[in-house]
Amino acid sequence: MKCPNCKGEKMIYGIVFKPEVNERIVALTCNLCDGKGIITAQQKKWAVDGERMYQDRITRGFTLRLEARRKGIDASVLSDMEIGKIKPVWDPVTKEKHEDKNRVRK
Ligand SMILES: [Zn+2]
Repeated sequence: MKCPNCKGEKMIYGIVFKPEVNERIVALTCNLCDGKGIITAQQKKWAVDGERMYQDRITRGFTLRLEARRKGIDASVLSDMEIGKIKPVWDPVTKEKHEDKNRVRK
């Protein structure tokens, strides 16, 4: 199955900002398929779950680092989960919980 991250290109492109060269576009080996261009059906499922995890985190306004700390895991592990490289551990924080916490603080 074609890798959704690099679309089977095996490489992804990013912009690197360095003071000495301003900005430049670099090709990096795709971090989801590790440059194979294809992913397994299981990884495909993980990618869907990881995307939901990512959306949930963004909705709460958490940075990768902050969310990783909340979960007690490394930021790079959380990043791998969100792209579906490893199995995401779905741990949603409900809106109600947030509201309760805010009430206690006040
Ligand atoms: Zn890829």
